[in-house]
Amino acid sequence: MDAGAATTRDLMALYGELDALHAWRGWHWWPDADPFEVIVGAILVQNTAWANVERALDRLRAANALTPEAMDALPGAALEELVRPSGQYRQKAKKLRAMLALAARHGGLAALLALPAPLLRAELLATWGIGPETADAIIVYAAREPAFVIDAYTMRLFSRLDVGPVTSRDYATWQTFFTAHLPEDRDTWARYHALIVMHGKHLCRKRAPRCSQCTLAARCPFAQTD
Ligand code: SF4
Repeated sequence: MDAGAATTRDLMALYGELDALHAWRGWHWWPDADPFEVIVGAILVQNTAWANVERALDRLRAANALTPEAMDALPGAALEELVRPSGQYRQKAKKLRAMLALAARHGGLAALLALPAPLLRAELLATWGIGPETADAIIVYAAREPAFVIDAYTMRLFSRLDVGPVTSRDYATWQTFFTAHLPEDRDTWARYHALIVMHGKHLCRKRAPRCSQCTLAARCPFAQTD
């Protein structure tokens, strides 16, 4: 077996292990979520914890503002106030406005999300406040097209496992590693990222990882006794 095929097999084995560990947990964007809520959540979660995003989403929901039309109709200060729990609320309200403007330019959210994925990604990346992680989250969880999301959890877990470009902190380098070695499949890629996030939150934490509860410990060079 060549090295590429061995890496593919290893990545799928890790997927199976993570699925066995975390499939029972709920995750906000899996299996399906309202596309506009995904987009709003993907912007609001920048630099904050998901619990704060939930509080902002609850306020938006209570104000009937979780549709593009309703959000667009809100006065500027009202949108800022509703998203305040997610932090950096002025910037985030501005990012939401930029996203609404992008959708409007394409004739609405559905038309925007129906663009071919590479074009959609380019449009998102050209929008103020949207970087690669947010863009890929929107593509895979809102447009439901293949995109492998990379984040700090991904780099931490796979660096600890000594799998992938472990010395790199470059988004594109890590993404290419996964997309080159995994069959292109939207559901698998969406679920893989969800499982990585759950593992990073619950077991492979930045400080004090819970290695005694982790079935990857036998193969993990970073495994600690806790
Ligand atoms: S053994 Fe510990 S460090 Fe390794 S993947 Fe599991 S939780 Fe993370």
